Amino acid sequence: MSLPASFADLALAPAVLKAVAELGYEQPSPIQAQAIPHLLAGRDILGVAQTGTGKTAAFALPLLTQIDVNNNQTQVLVLTPTRELAIQVAEAFQRYATHTKGFHVLPIYGGQDMRAQLRQLQRGAQVVVGTPGRVMDHLRRGSLQLDKLQAIVLDEADEMLRMGFIDDVEWILEHTPEQRQTALFSATMPPPIKKVADRYLVEPAEVKISPESSTGSNIEQHYWMVSGTNKMDALTRILEVEDFDAMIIFVRTKTATVELAEKLEARGFSASAINGDMNQALRERTIDRLKQNKLDILVATDVAARGIDVERVSHVMNYDIPYDSEAYVHRIGRTGRAGRSGKAILFVAPRERRLLYAIEKATNQRIERMELPTGDAVTKQRIDQFNQLLTTTLTEQRNKLDFFYELLAEFSQTHDVSAEEIASALAYLCQKERPLQVQLADVHAAQDRPRRDRPERGERDRSERSERGDRDRGEKRERRERGPKRDDVPMDLYRLEVGRDHGVKPGDIVGAIANEAGIDSRHIGNIRLQGEFSTVELPTGMPKETLSHLRKVFIRSQPINISLDTGGSGANHERPKKRHPKGDRAERPARLGDKPAKKPRKPKKYD
Ligand code: AMP
Repeated sequence: MSLPASFADLALAPAVLKAVAELGYEQPSPIQAQAIPHLLAGRDILGVAQTGTGKTAAFALPLLTQIDVNNNQTQVLVLTPTRELAIQVAEAFQRYATHTKGFHVLPIYGGQDMRAQLRQLQRGAQVVVGTPGRVMDHLRRGSLQLDKLQAIVLDEADEMLRMGFIDDVEWILEHTPEQRQTALFSATMPPPIKKVADRYLVEPAEVKISPESSTGSNIEQHYWMVSGTNKMDALTRILEVEDFDAMIIFVRTKTATVELAEKLEARGFSASAINGDMNQALRERTIDRLKQNKLDILVATDVAARGIDVERVSHVMNYDIPYDSEAYVHRIGRTGRAGRSGKAILFVAPRERRLLYAIEKATNQRIERMELPTGDAVTKQRIDQFNQLLTTTLTEQRNKLDFFYELLAEFSQTHDVSAEEIASALAYLCQKERPLQVQLADVHAAQDRPRRDRPERGERDRSERSERGDRDRGEKRERRERGPKRDDVPMDLYRLEVGRDHGVKPGDIVGAIANEAGIDSRHIGNIRLQGEFSTVELPTGMPKETLSHLRKVFIRSQPINISLDTGGSGANHERPKKRHPKGDRAERPARLGDKPAKKPRKPKKYD
């Protein structure tokens, strides 16, 4: 892998570099290393990159560098296919602009209150991130003005095409100043996107991540589909049950290496961080400790782990997905050394699916889906370890037991209790901190639930297409929503026991509900954040299983404990009006509280 430059080598604004350093980014991802210099030089970009490659920072960092914060007019417009992506991109800009004073970014998308949007636009934002329909609305109204626009980004252009937005995108492009800079990012390059690129990009620099790679056949590869915020719990469960000798866990940032290593140590694992902030001597010492069995787990960034060759590394855990297949191959090549067999596990968030497929395609190897070990499996493992400990103590420490033998024999006699009873009491005390009988916390239920899984190879395309089809339909609905049509969707109000005080943002709630309940995000209505709780409108008639599954979901480490808001929560005052027409009960779709005698109308689409 050619060494990407360090961030400091890129001519980014000092405030941007500072934010990136604080986020713990150690080096630019391949797409960033390629794209940033071109964007800074004012060139157009045609980028082939999926989610997970770091493409957001690839355009956000250089564009932020070029923004004039003394001018509140819109200088950068980012078009995204969905509102989640609009929120994510806006949040990313905000993160990278932590030290850029006077910077404002505004996400605009359908479903949001128009008046608030108009007010915010009036106040001004140098960067606007929006879905095409809403951006068009504002351009037509004159509430969004682009005469000072310097750059436009088309993010996930192929998704916008699939959702039928391509005409809107072209319309918007036609309404931007001709001398603007254009960056088009797309996971694939179907002909209509190529056509847009040919038409609207001027001598673009083409950037893409290298696809060729190969992995050793002695490495077993698995992936686990992440649900929300439970990665840490999933990791500990796997660590308990996997029979590993030594392991390297890969994360993306320096900060994450330290945090994760500390958390693992606190949970009793012998783990240490290794990252680019550590000097060479310290890094080597850490690797030596791994070689000499003094350490079992290294938590590493790609840079720090480059070239590590330790035979006893039996497992590689991709806790954060790598940027591309090449990085994946490098990572998993840290195991299966010296002809041994190895195992690689990859955590994939639902939105990173495409990167998983890309890795499989590039390496021409199937990565098998794995389920998390069950509570029973963890219990069995702990009992085995306990039995093992008893046996070794009885055999190897026999000479040290005499004193206790006497003591307990006497206790048994005086108190008239059997040896088994005493042993049980002692065993109970021994395992108090780490119970042998594992009651997996409720969070785990989120992981146990069979998720809509990736289809078999041949079916994937079809399924992807139908998934897209769903999104298409959803988005079209959103587009229609510019008129009053959305009001057709009857909604109920739910209360979530997480709020602003927990650091929760609307995007977190949309993401969690869309991913966990499989509810199309376009059917997620108003979200109101309060201090300790939030309310969200969801389509009436949510199936019981979905609700009870959702109850176990965590956001920002807090159980959301979702419940139908019956008005007693104090959230009542802000309960939005039901969107279905009042009156004729037969017309009203079934709700959670309804008696089953009435034939419920099929719930609205839950994927
Ligand atoms: P994206 O492909 O833009 O969705 O980014 C995926 C994730 O990678 C985000 O969580 C980013 O914060 C993270 N990320 C992007 N660039 C870097 C980098 N150079 N180093 C570490 N993490 C990064």
